[in-house]
Amino acid sequence: MIPGSFAYHRPKSVSDAVNMLADLGEDARALAGGHSLIPMMKLRLAAPAHLVDLAGIGDLKGIRADGNDIVIGAMTTQHELCGSDLLTSKLPILRETSLQIADPQVRYVGTLGGNVANGDPGNDMPAVMMCLGASYQVAGKKGERRLAAREFYQGAYFTALEPGEILTAVRIPVPAAGHGYAYEKLKRKIGDYATAAAAVVLTISAGKVASCSIGLTNVAETPLWAEEAARLLIGSSLDAATVKQTVAAAEKITSPASDRRGPPAYRTKMAGVMLSRALASANARAR
Ligand SMILES: Cc1cc2nc3c(=O)[nH]c(=O)nc-3n(C[C@H](O)[C@H](O)[C@H](O)COP(=O)(O)OP(=O)(O)OC[C@H]3O[C@@H](n4cnc5c(N)ncnc54)[C@H](O)[C@@H]3O)c2cc1C
Repeated sequence: MIPGSFAYHRPKSVSDAVNMLADLGEDARALAGGHSLIPMMKLRLAAPAHLVDLAGIGDLKGIRADGNDIVIGAMTTQHELCGSDLLTSKLPILRETSLQIADPQVRYVGTLGGNVANGDPGNDMPAVMMCLGASYQVAGKKGERRLAAREFYQGAYFTALEPGEILTAVRIPVPAAGHGYAYEKLKRKIGDYATAAAAVVLTISAGKVASCSIGLTNVAETPLWAEEAARLLIGSSLDAATVKQTVAAAEKITSPASDRRGPPAYRTKMAGVMLSRALASANARAR
């Protein structure tokens, strides 16, 4: 349970961090809250020779509105997401999701950037970001670019980040006022990763679904955006038959691993149950 030896670096700016990561090469890793990376190092599943700690970079912190988007710095902690008035009024699904991550100890230190950049299919925020149509602002030695969350995840722990790039911020378009939302997560106990979870954001107009987006957590090698399943709901009144079709379409795209959380067939079914609960909550909350 003791990590291998490593050199510790603490840059003061994004440009210093990306230059450092580029110069140190593939033996270097960015360090954010350390609540995924340090356990991996203790288990010797990761053994970086250099850790580049992003904690001293003020530009990576904070939550702000920018036109119709909310921009959240990568080093913003999950605890800060829970406490933000701006998020509570504009993007309440983020507070609901943050509160279901681990426990207060993890949330005080774990960051949004680390949660979405890690590529762990068990992390809760990636599917929510796909559901919301978020994009990730990324910086590297060659400059900055923006990547859609829906195209970011390529395999377990494998993302579209190039070596030496860091995620600087998450940009989220604010859903229409009065939207319904929910993040429903099945876990074995408080502090556990999801057996299966579902994120829903929808709008209702004249009693019918006008827009809907669905994300699924921990039921494939990557988080999933259930585009076709959500499309089936458009124009419906969320009647039982349409919800059943939607749940079936979402279950169809899952391919969960078998682990201590249960066999694949069980986890697929639980994804469906979480999705029906999330649809019901989102519908009840929509105005
Ligand atoms: C007991 C326990 C229970 C947990 N339960 C849950 C849970 O239920 N749901 C959940 O979602 N998470 C859970 N987590 C994980 C937790 O949320 C982590 O804090 C989070 O996933 C990673 O964020 P971090 O800031 O700690 O990143 P770190 O651990 O520092 O980094 C994780 C990885 O991302 C990379 N990285 C970090 N920041 C950046 C960046 N800005 N740019 C590029 N790469 C970066 C690092 O190089 C590293 O590879 C749990 C953790 C623990 C210890």
